Amino acid sequence: MEETAEGGLRIGALVPNSDLAYHPLVAQRYPMLASAILAGASAQLRNMASTGGNLLQRTRCAYFYDTATPCNKRTPGSGCSALTGINRIHAILGTSDACIATHPSDMCVALAALAATVHVTGPKGERHIGLVDFHRLPGNTPERDTNLAADEIITAIELPATGFVKNYTYLKIRDRLSYAFALVSVAAALELEGDTIKEARLALGGVAHKPWRDLGVEALLRGQTAKREAFMHAADALLRDAKGRAHNAFKIDLARRAVVRALTQAARATPQSQSSKKVR
Ligand SMILES: Cc1cc2nc3c(=O)[nH]c(=O)nc-3n(C[C@H](O)[C@H](O)[C@H](O)COP(=O)(O)OP(=O)(O)OC[C@H]3O[C@@H](n4cnc5c(N)ncnc54)[C@H](O)[C@@H]3O)c2cc1C
Ligand code: SF4
Repeated sequence: MEETAEGGLRIGALVPNSDLAYHPLVAQRYPMLASAILAGASAQLRNMASTGGNLLQRTRCAYFYDTATPCNKRTPGSGCSALTGINRIHAILGTSDACIATHPSDMCVALAALAATVHVTGPKGERHIGLVDFHRLPGNTPERDTNLAADEIITAIELPATGFVKNYTYLKIRDRLSYAFALVSVAAALELEGDTIKEARLALGGVAHKPWRDLGVEALLRGQTAKREAFMHAADALLRDAKGRAHNAFKIDLARRAVVRALTQAARATPQSQSSKKVR
C-alpha cells in the first residue's frame, strides 16, 4: 500500500482484506471503506481474502452453483432458473431476462462511492478502469461479470484523495448480523457546509449485478439541505426503475428506507458501529 502523488492511496491487489481495513491510512482517511470491508464475511475469511479476489468474487445465486439447473451465467443459453424460482436475494436494478444475479461484495460498494480506480495489466499493457465501469450489467452476456479481459490481471486499486472522513456510513442489511451477504447495503458519504450538501456519494450493494451508483441522484442532493425530505427524494430517484420479482419485491422498499437511514447517519456523523472490528 502506498500514498500517491495526488494525495490518494494505491492498494496492491494481494493486500488481504483485514490488513486493508485495519491499516491506519485506511482507518483514518477512508473509514467508509474500512466499515464496508469489516461488514463482509467473517474475521477468518477477511484475513485470507485479497483485494483483487474480493472484486472478482462471483454471485451467490444458488442456481449458479447447482449444476442440475439451467443458468445462463454458468452455461450461456441454458436459461435462468431464478426468474421463476427462489429469487429472494436477487437483483431489483439493471436486470435482464437473461440474469437477475447480484454482485455480493461489500468492499466494492464503498469503492464505487469513493470513485476508486482499478489498475489492470495484460499483454497489451496497463490500463485503468473506474470501479463503476469494472463490473458489468448482465444484458445478454451474464457469463461476463467484469470488463477485465481474459488475459489481464488486477494489479492495484487506487483511491482519490477525498475520503469523506466525517460524514459517512456503510449500512448493511442482512438476514444475520454477521457472516451473511447483504440483502441491501448502502455506502453514503456527504461533504457538508453547515447544513448544506456540497458533495454527495451514494452506492447500493445487494441490488444489482454491480455496485449501483447514479451520478444524477448525487447531483440532486448537491445544494440541498441535509434533511429527510432531500434524502427521501434521492432514495425515490435511485430506486425509480427498480423491478421486483415473486420473492424479492420487498427489497425495493428496504433499499429506499436504507438509503434514507444511511444518509441521515452520514449527515449526523454517526456511522454504523464497527462491532466486528474488535474480533480479529
Ligand atoms: C462464506 C463466505 C462468506 C462471504 N461473505 C462476504 C460478504 O459478506 N461480503 C463480501 O464482500 N465478501 C464476502 N465473501 C467473499 C470473501 O471476502 C472473498 O473476497 C472472496 O471469497 C474471494 O476470495 P479471495 O479473495 O481469496 O479470492 P480468490 O478466490 O483467490 O479469487 C477469486 C477469483 O479472482 C481471481 N483473482 C484473484 N486475484 C486476482 C487478480 N489480482 N487479478 C486477476 N484475477 C484475480 C482468482 O483467480 C479467482 O478466480 C465471503 C466469502 C465466503 C466464502
Ligand atoms: S440469476 Fe444469473 S446466476 Fe442466477 S440462475 Fe439466473 S442466470 Fe444463473
